Amino acid sequence: MKDETKLVTSGRDPENNHGVVNPPVYHASTILHPTLDALDNSRERRMAGERGVYYGRKGTPTTFSLEDMVCDLEGGDRCQVYPSGLAAIAGSLLAFLKAGDHILMTDAAYSPARRFCNDLASRYDVSTTFYDPAIGTAITDLIQDNTRVVYVEAPGTATFVMQDIPAIAEAAHKKGCIVMMDNTWASPLFCKPFQLGVDVSIQAGTKYIVGHSDVMIGTSCATKEAWPAIDNMAGLLGHAAGPDDVYLAQRGMRTLSVRLKQHWENGLKVAEWLRGQDMVEVVMHPALTNDPGHALWKRDFLGASGLFGTTLKPCPRSAIAALVDDLELFGMGASWGGYESLVLPQDPNISRSVTPWPYEGQCLRFHIGLEDTDDLIADLDAGFKRLKAAM
Ligand SMILES: *Cc1c(COP(=O)(O)O)cnc(C)c1O
Repeated sequence: MKDETKLVTSGRDPENNHGVVNPPVYHASTILHPTLDALDNSRERRMAGERGVYYGRKGTPTTFSLEDMVCDLEGGDRCQVYPSGLAAIAGSLLAFLKAGDHILMTDAAYSPARRFCNDLASRYDVSTTFYDPAIGTAITDLIQDNTRVVYVEAPGTATFVMQDIPAIAEAAHKKGCIVMMDNTWASPLFCKPFQLGVDVSIQAGTKYIVGHSDVMIGTSCATKEAWPAIDNMAGLLGHAAGPDDVYLAQRGMRTLSVRLKQHWENGLKVAEWLRGQDMVEVVMHPALTNDPGHALWKRDFLGASGLFGTTLKPCPRSAIAALVDDLELFGMGASWGGYESLVLPQDPNISRSVTPWPYEGQCLRFHIGLEDTDDLIADLDAGFKRLKAAM
């Protein structure tokens, strides 16, 4: 089945739910067992690692619905739901690490993932080396005897650098490392990490899976081999996403394919327009043909999302304020993946340690929503006129 069909059919069971189209929202902690046999049977199945309704924290059919959808789309054998994308990152990393281990993390990783390594992991004697995202097969030279996890994210946060994931995965597997990917940018629709050699794929479901800027959720899909460690750590950490949020995530995901195609198209149109502006130094978007990561994007990805970066030519802060303060259609704030357009000034150098960003001008991250692109471009055009007038 094609992805569009899977998004409609996956994780639904109307026959066992009075014909109701969507899965019910189960609010649960206690699960009752009518007999001693039933209780023992349930415990045996839980011990054997079988998915089932054992206790609220362990998931209900509401949770299983989202797990099945993400797994059917993204790949892997099983999926764990977490209360946020960062909880998915932290839980997945912890699953494979012990004192004395070493992590190799892309220098373009989402900054709270970096902080997790530099703060929490280092407290437990796990060290991290950040590497140039464009390293490719040369990652082999950085793999130490104690390297346990090689962490990739493509395109990378802030600067949208692509990575040669199959090359990195092959080198990592030769040395027995787990390859973990933050696949949030592409969503489960536009990148299939398990076909690229990834063992664990993380989604900040908060972004495109939810799609409406109103829920925090995360997921980790894992291969059959990597799953027991993910499952075990989720059990130890007690991660449990609330049923209403899980419900909204699976509901949002039903329209992922129509939304993403529009985000892709709208994003590219606005990115191309921005590239033509004289105050724009560079547009970082791997689907643009002149982007350094374009060939990798074309080879490994099935589409693009609506998130990309730009760097302006150097200009005073007041001119940047003149641009962003009076935009009508672009909200300013963290997160992305909802239906609405956003702009966020950011400094890539804050979250990089081995690959300094070479430009002096202000970086602006754009998320292009589902508005009409002529309206968005007119809004930006007025903004750039204000910027120039304030120079
Ligand atoms: C937002 C984001 C996360 C974290 O997700 P939360 O749900 O906000 O915790 C992780 N990775 C990337 C690339 C993100 O954009």
